[in-house]
Amino acid sequence: MSDYPQLALYIDGAWHGSAGGASRPVINPADESVLGHVPLAGDQELDFAVEAAQRGFAIWKSTSACVRHEIISRATRLLRERAEAIAHVMTLEQGKPLSESKREVLLSADIIDFLAEEGKRSYGRVVPSRSNAVFAQVVSHVPVGPAALLTPWNFPMNLPARKVGAALAAGCSAVFKPAEETPGTATELVRTFHDAGLPPGVLNLVFGEPARVSSRLIASDGIRKVSFTGSIPVGKHLGELCARGVKRYTAELGGHAPVLVLQDADPTHIARLSVSAKFRNAGQVCASPTRFLVHASLFESFLSVFCETARKLRIGSGLVPGVDMGPLTHVRRIGEMQALVEDAISCGATLMCGGVRLPGPGYFFAPTVLANVPPSARIMHQEPFGPIAVINAWTELDDALAQANGLPYGLAAYLFTRDVALAHTVSARIEAGLVGVNHFGVSQPETPFGGVKESGYGSESGQEGLAAYFDTKLTSFGSA
Ligand code: NAD
Repeated sequence: MSDYPQLALYIDGAWHGSAGGASRPVINPADESVLGHVPLAGDQELDFAVEAAQRGFAIWKSTSACVRHEIISRATRLLRERAEAIAHVMTLEQGKPLSESKREVLLSADIIDFLAEEGKRSYGRVVPSRSNAVFAQVVSHVPVGPAALLTPWNFPMNLPARKVGAALAAGCSAVFKPAEETPGTATELVRTFHDAGLPPGVLNLVFGEPARVSSRLIASDGIRKVSFTGSIPVGKHLGELCARGVKRYTAELGGHAPVLVLQDADPTHIARLSVSAKFRNAGQVCASPTRFLVHASLFESFLSVFCETARKLRIGSGLVPGVDMGPLTHVRRIGEMQALVEDAISCGATLMCGGVRLPGPGYFFAPTVLANVPPSARIMHQEPFGPIAVINAWTELDDALAQANGLPYGLAAYLFTRDVALAHTVSARIEAGLVGVNHFGVSQPETPFGGVKESGYGSESGQEGLAAYFDTKLTSFGSA
């Protein structure tokens, strides 16, 4: 297909095939056609990428933050100029509507710009000495070293932007391994840096068999930092691998966001808002609102407006204008959705709408609402990562909070109330890294994004996202 990029590994400033010739097809989830073949790196290419990143680090760490900012800004300018074409590639391989893809590309440019700006402001500090024999104690932030950046397929530009942007802004080099489902978008991101004049070796792109790539990279002495976004089991496993080499680690893992709707909220307005948040990117969002816990007095009206709005969503190829929700990215997610719905019904839940795969080709699953779902159902404790909403009623706020906090997840949570005092007290009791009060927009370039409990380790974006790529160093100047 002509508008889909040629896929290659990018190592030491040049594009390469895989020496062993291994590859896998990239599938368009809207029609199941083959878009291209992604080359899979073997150990030889992975080692070459780490060596290149070590050489790149030597150059990049001694490049001033201002010059780094200049080069990075050239890349984000190209990203904005190419947004239309890159959005098309993203929709082809990931499935989301074209307008969402374009917004993601532009937001990614903003994320990278913010981090590059902040990179110029990582000042450190001078600490006064206790003794006249020491005249300056300088605390500085030094780039941690070559980083392995591992990203999934649900936001193929935005999640890499947080990692690549922070690593490069801090002066680190990187070996970047995006998801093999969405290699085209990652390739276009790397191409903007290449075209912007980033020195060879600073940013390297590899694809491969995920477990093999991550274990090889993390075990390498050349890698000093690992950042992963994906599922909790994989995140825990990679954390263990990092611990062996005492490598810095950031993990952004799954969520199962509760939405508390208090008795004074407007059920119609919030139900409509909730449908657009829930089914964005077909629910394949780690911060997606999933467990709607609605005060009993609003339950019927909230449920009815939510279902009516969800039934009206236009489902289809993301390339078709006016489509609200595209396909799931991978066929395995369809089986997962079906199993979760069947399990919930067998436990006594009511299926209000959806619950089925839509006639193909393509991996389309109907927007689904389950009501009165008992705690025993699997979906009450397993992240669906797809277009399924659970809507349950509560009468006591303490019970609702216990349900909201009752899972090992703690990424996002949402709260709707008009009562300012309740907004403060209830949000303070919610165990989550991100709490949205009266809205769902908890992800901005300037603000930290990360989870508590098993949802993650550290933050991305904001100043915290940049700090994750620095070591702290004290240099103490004596008078001898
Ligand atoms: P998965 O766990 O198989 O894969 C998730 C991502 O991790 C993929 O990009 C995959 O390539 C990568 N991965 C898997 N094993 C790896 C390993 N050993 N080393 C390095 N990378 C590895 O799950 P999936 O079916 O692709 O996605 C479903 C689940 O993943 C969801 O239920 C959700 O919990 C989680 N997920 C979370 C996010 C997020 O933004 N936090 C994004 C995508 C997926």
